[in-house]
Amino acid sequence: MIKILISACLEGQPVRYDGKANGVEAKVWQKWQDEGRLISLCPEVAGGLETPRAPAEIISDAQSPNHLQVITIEGENVTKAFKKGAQIAVDIALKEEIKIAILKAKSPSCGNQQIYDGSFSDTKIVGQGITASSLSKLNIKIFNEHQLSEAEDYLKQLEEASQQASAV
Ligand code: SF4
Repeated sequence: MIKILISACLEGQPVRYDGKANGVEAKVWQKWQDEGRLISLCPEVAGGLETPRAPAEIISDAQSPNHLQVITIEGENVTKAFKKGAQIAVDIALKEEIKIAILKAKSPSCGNQQIYDGSFSDTKIVGQGITASSLSKLNIKIFNEHQLSEAEDYLKQLEEASQQASAV
């Protein structure tokens, strides 16, 4: 069965920085859950951060765009924990042969298309969270909780390709 890696907060686990969850209640989500298809992870908790925790944003250096740092609103550098969580997500993805993930939009770990700009002013920019970026490098297709029908279509494509491969 093709498994889907998901953000733990989307499964209803209260692991967000503020101790809340972002549980998804869509029918298709429930179906995936009943099929045992969902593998959940909170990279920030896995990386060693506590819940609740101070909100953090990615600060990028325009001079060296690959040198990203994650800083909390209190000024603490939590880059190491974010990177550790991303590595744990990569390890799980490789072990479970993950090809599709559904991650929480706009998170500095999980965001797949947009993140906050590091100014803590609610300003969003195009970009990926630390874990989403690491998973993308493995060619894992990442959707967010607002893209469930796209994820459903992609899952069908993966299943068809896998059936064709096993029929050869
Ligand atoms: S790191 Fe990801 S899974 Fe954990 S609370 Fe943030 S968005 Fe949810």
